[in-house]
Amino acid sequence: MKIGIAGAGLAGRLCAFLLSKQGHEITVFDPASGPSDPVASGFAAAGMLSHVAELEKGDNNIYNLGVRSLALWKHIVPQLVEPVELHYNGSLMLAHRGDEGAANRLISLLSHKAPADQQPQKISLEQLKIEEPSISGVAHAWALPNEGHIHTRQAMHALYASSANTHWHWQTPVNKLSPQTIFTQEGEHHFDWVFDTRGLGAREVKFPNAHTLSCQNVRGVRGEVLWLQVPTLSLSRPIRLLHPRYCVYLVPRKPDILFIGASEIESEDRSPISVRTTVELLTAAHSVLPEIAEARIIHTETNLRPALIDNFPRIETEQGLSRINGLFRHGWLIAPAIVENALQEMLGEQYSAMS
Ligand SMILES: Cc1cc2nc3c(=O)[nH]c(=O)nc-3n(C[C@H](O)[C@H](O)[C@H](O)COP(=O)(O)OP(=O)(O)OC[C@H]3O[C@@H](n4cnc5c(N)ncnc54)[C@H](O)[C@@H]3O)c2cc1C
Repeated sequence: MKIGIAGAGLAGRLCAFLLSKQGHEITVFDPASGPSDPVASGFAAAGMLSHVAELEKGDNNIYNLGVRSLALWKHIVPQLVEPVELHYNGSLMLAHRGDEGAANRLISLLSHKAPADQQPQKISLEQLKIEEPSISGVAHAWALPNEGHIHTRQAMHALYASSANTHWHWQTPVNKLSPQTIFTQEGEHHFDWVFDTRGLGAREVKFPNAHTLSCQNVRGVRGEVLWLQVPTLSLSRPIRLLHPRYCVYLVPRKPDILFIGASEIESEDRSPISVRTTVELLTAAHSVLPEIAEARIIHTETNLRPALIDNFPRIETEQGLSRINGLFRHGWLIAPAIVENALQEMLGEQYSAMS
């Protein structure tokens, strides 16, 4: 089949990769200048694959999509033509003395919502010192042993490079689309099937009803992140700090990068990271990893998470057109399973992204 994809973000690249494996001929359109131009929100993400921790705000559907996607990433990454860091060595949740209220509430909630074999596991400070000697100053620690993380920039490029039979039209925004047709400044492009994976770019400006749940009724949620270079750091897995006022996570990336994120602000402002967020994130990070005091801030980034009114993902399918949107704050956690579901609606229930 001839497939047209509007949007070369995470969902669009996964569609291209999985459909190209089936032998389809793919054409992708995106306004970015090239495959590494970090326009898509997927580039800014930490790549936490946190199916259990996301139960704080997510529902069972997010959890199940996350579990399926963890298995799918394990299957997809070895097939890519470029290396992608993918780790399944769990994550840690840490709390300072005095912050027990917020921490205990979250641990109770996760313990209530997660299945018996995925419960947060309390670990002693002695054990923490042995496992993660860089961490200090915390009073409580829990492990989520089955969570993972993925190197998002590597994965974005590797998905692009691994999609065979795919024509990439960069600097080409899609102005409009309909079943089997994509409209760009170059004209009309006809396909057997069209995918709308434009994230925030899918917004229909004159949407008739602000309360309508639709892939085109999408808003952006600002996220700001920092990268530190820390040559001495030895941290084997992501940390989430259970703080009463803000949410901070720290993700190690080889060889010596510490990724610190992320704000979550109801705003579509893409301007650089604010002083307030920088201070909050770095103060929190320094409170658990004191050795970052001499680290260098080598990169900051801001992007917008595409969210629908219920903050949950959504697929809309009609003959000749599939829309995928609303991946919000858990796109890396759930995208492989969401795309698999969309392809099942198009190709039939027998389709599996494991094939
Ligand atoms: C700071 C931050 C941290 C995050 N951390 C995590 C995390 O740790 N774990 C996790 O699971 N998720 C995380 N996320 C969420 C995740 O990155 C997103 O859910 C996911 O990237 C959304 O994918 P998408 O393909 O729907 O949209 P995007 O990745 O935004 O892609 C949309 C694409 O459409 C293109 N486009 C826009 N307009 C048009 C047009 N008119 N025509 C053609 N193309 C168009 C854009 O250029 C872009 O390439 C984070 C997000 C942010 C911002």
